[in-house]
Amino acid sequence: MITLDGVRRNYSNEVAIGPLDLTIPAGGVTALIGPNGAGKSTLLTMIGRLMGMDSGAIAIAGNDVARTPSKHLARIVSILRQENHFITRLTVRQLVGFGRFPYSKGRLTVDDEKIISQAIDFLHLQDLEGRYLDELSGGQRQRAYVAMVLAQDTEYVLLDEPLNNLDMRHGVQMMQHLRRAAEELGRTIVIVLHDINFAARYADRICAMKNGAIVEFGTPQEIMQDDVLTRVFDTPVQVIDGPHGPLAVYY
Ligand code: ADP
Ligand code: MG
Repeated sequence: MITLDGVRRNYSNEVAIGPLDLTIPAGGVTALIGPNGAGKSTLLTMIGRLMGMDSGAIAIAGNDVARTPSKHLARIVSILRQENHFITRLTVRQLVGFGRFPYSKGRLTVDDEKIISQAIDFLHLQDLEGRYLDELSGGQRQRAYVAMVLAQDTEYVLLDEPLNNLDMRHGVQMMQHLRRAAEELGRTIVIVLHDINFAARYADRICAMKNGAIVEFGTPQEIMQDDVLTRVFDTPVQVIDGPHGPLAVYY
């Protein structure tokens, strides 16, 4: 379980995030949605302690994020940021190996290599594992970063718009991989999604943010309503019955 209690972060007089009060249950996939600038990345990076908060408290599985030693926290939660992915002369396999750092401190054991291979297989990167990151397409690189995060082998996985740069097939595959990670590996996945229809199809819960606040939290059934989505996104949205459940139409 992830809990936020009165969490605030002020960037300036004009931009204030929070206070955020939220409980994300353990297990399954929770999608974070909302317009640009709503505060989704801020929320995720505070949970992952890549950014501090001005007040309030965050706990992950009972561990106070502000007080837990980094060494310990890195075995509980992993995070893929929306930006700042480094592109260097690293191969895919070397990058995925970085996910093992909290355990190996740079000396990879046989077990580490096994977990790295599993993460590479999980994202169908076998044929690309020897390639350098700067020799990949944006979507291939995105999958390599997700593999790195999964190799960190944490119960909690935070992903900020991991479908960016992915074509339809890889977008769908990525969500199927993440559902499998939740169901078969028992991971708790919190994912920022741009496309509400991916959230409706693959998430167990949807959390909607707007103007630095959490404005909705519920099942896809509860959130996929004309009035709810129209309010969240400030644009007319119509929900129709699709072949696999509700679909939002907004163009
Ligand atoms: P989202 O991920 O939902 O698009 P963000 O969390 O990135 O939103 O941003 C929330 C708000 O905080 C936006 O208004 C954004 O302009 C502002 N913001 C984000 N990062 C910074 C920063 N480093 N300095 C100042 N303002 C920021
Ligand atoms: Mg963002």
